[in-house]
Amino acid sequence: MFDCIIIGAGIAGLVTARMMSGAGMNILIIDDSQKNAASRVAAGLVNPITGKRFQVSWRFAEFLHLGMMHYASFAEEDSQEAYLKQQSMIRLFVDEKERVVFNAKYETLNIAEFVGENLEPGTDQLDISIRNEHGGFRTLQAHVFDYGRFLDVSGNVFRNNILNTFVAPHHIESKDGYWSINTGNESIHGRTILFCDGWLASRNPWLSDMNLQFDIVKGESCIIRSIDLPETDIISRGFAIIPIGKHQFRCAATFQWNEITTIPTAFGAERLMQRIQSLMNCEYEILEQSAGLRPTMLHHMPFLGEHPNHKGMFMLGGLGTKGALYAPHMAQQLIDYFAKCKQFDGEMDISQQQRRFAIH
Ligand SMILES: Cc1cc2nc3c(=O)[nH]c(=O)nc-3n(C[C@H](O)[C@H](O)[C@H](O)COP(=O)(O)OP(=O)(O)OC[C@H]3O[C@@H](n4cnc5c(N)ncnc54)[C@H](O)[C@@H]3O)c2cc1C
Repeated sequence: MFDCIIIGAGIAGLVTARMMSGAGMNILIIDDSQKNAASRVAAGLVNPITGKRFQVSWRFAEFLHLGMMHYASFAEEDSQEAYLKQQSMIRLFVDEKERVVFNAKYETLNIAEFVGENLEPGTDQLDISIRNEHGGFRTLQAHVFDYGRFLDVSGNVFRNNILNTFVAPHHIESKDGYWSINTGNESIHGRTILFCDGWLASRNPWLSDMNLQFDIVKGESCIIRSIDLPETDIISRGFAIIPIGKHQFRCAATFQWNEITTIPTAFGAERLMQRIQSLMNCEYEILEQSAGLRPTMLHHMPFLGEHPNHKGMFMLGGLGTKGALYAPHMAQQLIDYFAKCKQFDGEMDISQQQRRFAIH
């Protein structure tokens, strides 16, 4: 009998698995190894100032602090270099109007701690290969999380505790005080079950009475190679070009609503090229293109908690565009709940969200 069966080995499932395992829990992970799972295609950017309105990302300092601690301890356990690294980032303005919006925000809101050097338009401060028509600023405390390496290494850590299969929801059963999953070959039993199933939570019949309001958003990204673009900074403007070494850059991402597939498209490629060329002014070649579905919520709040009608069934999801930033805090909440019966974070707690976001 497992203490917990985790369904989904994206960042949510694996960060939680690592913390549960570290807390001495006996766990099993089940995942169907989708190569286009959101965590497999994510760019890994952790950005303190987001959007056209230059908002400080929700509870950024708190989540980043906890994330740095946990990711550093995972890297140490794995004898790996850091999974989460700070990186210099340039945020360029779209036009003069955006600079005015930014300046007003800078005066009135608490974004100054994340703003470094002011960048004037032109090539005095930035390399000629960067299209700097309206200036911008350096973002401080931007980080990049290496999703691919973390997933691969963690998958290996749990190689004896992962089942590679899809769990059909009707094969999950509640029996006298425990959960049973029929995988086709065998029945597996767990005291608790935890869904970390990414965007598929929106199709999960076990969660259908939870009033979860998803707003799933497709994203396409690509890896390019460019000899001329400097590898020192992330360049961003609602879209980021992130250096990943050997003159390669991850470029992410498009936002496509109403398209629930993980297939890269010609339309996506066109959009990616437009965005790349709006930020850089030099030769490049596209090496690969990928697509995934972000598990985004209408209210942009991730969710966490126990199903009110099914004792021992837990869920953690809705990480949207910020999986790397949110996952450690959310997993920690679950650990504290199991170990100390501590209440969940009120803003993420599914039962409190149900009341707050109820449709009247
Ligand atoms: C193009 C793109 C760019 C992004 N860029 C960033 C970024 O720069 N920074 C950032 O932090 N985030 C980014 N994100 C968002 C990030 O990818 C998500 O927030 C995060 O990966 C969600 O993780 P998850 O574990 O909840 O879901 P997923 O990664 O989707 O993992 C869920 C897993 O569960 C498996 N699964 C589901 N149901 C079952 C079942 N019944 N049986 C077996 N297995 C099942 C799935 O196959 C999958 O492997 C991006 C997303 C996209 C699409």
